[in-house]
Amino acid sequence: MSCVLHGGGRARRPPVAAMNRVSILMYHQVGRFAPMRAHRANYCDQSRFARQMALLAALGCRVLSLEQTVAGLCGVTPLPPRALSLTFDDGYAEFMTAALPTLQRYGFTATVYVIAGWLGRRMIWRGPDPRRLRPRLLNATQLRALHAAGIAIGSHTSSHRPLATLAPAEQREELSASRARLEDLLGAPVLHLCYPFGSFDARTLALAAEVGYRSAVTCLQGAATPADHPLCLPRKAISFGDTLPGYAWKLLVKHAPTPALRTWRVHAALPAAGGGLRP
Ligand SMILES: [Zn+2]
Repeated sequence: MSCVLHGGGRARRPPVAAMNRVSILMYHQVGRFAPMRAHRANYCDQSRFARQMALLAALGCRVLSLEQTVAGLCGVTPLPPRALSLTFDDGYAEFMTAALPTLQRYGFTATVYVIAGWLGRRMIWRGPDPRRLRPRLLNATQLRALHAAGIAIGSHTSSHRPLATLAPAEQREELSASRARLEDLLGAPVLHLCYPFGSFDARTLALAAEVGYRSAVTCLQGAATPADHPLCLPRKAISFGDTLPGYAWKLLVKHAPTPALRTWRVHAALPAAGGGLRP
């Protein structure tokens, strides 16, 4: 993590110890769905979700906020064994009934990344696809209730466009306006970001740092380690088709970084994240 390694240079790094690793799990919509073949990583059956959370509790996993995860990866605080974070992209209204009660049963926190310009509307996908669900997104009242319940609200930008395809000024606007809107709505800092479609480049990271984000999650696959930049954190996608053994395997065994993640880990001259978390 560059707050320790200052830019993540190309030096050979020692193997990651088990306690130096956090699995950041990526969910999208939790609810009840008809069987599906496409876009499966966007859905999780709520009964299956309840069994997954029960498994985390049974295994003694420690569910950390993104704040705690970044502090642990930066070496500011020690990381517990079997540390993980739960993240939910897009901010679906169904989270209130399909996921929140289960999280509260086990005392688990989570981060929900919302599209600040679309609150209370229906999800809009890129390109017409009449077969695809267009579920309702969380509204301002629901976001305040989640914040009060200890669920962190992060930015998923203002309009859910792939940032790397935008001009720098547009990227900056997406990052800063969404943060300002959510902070105004919640009356609290919004320090955590999620790149729509996992789309970002080095300029995006620099802009996210300038705007003041402390962390940003990607769709790069692997466990997060101190080798990762806080604005380029990998996750593990949980899919509609994941059985409980498959889920346990992703959580406990499947830590290796994909080649794309390896490439980012050696990316030179990454900026420092916002929020002043240097040890
Ligand atoms: Zn999204």
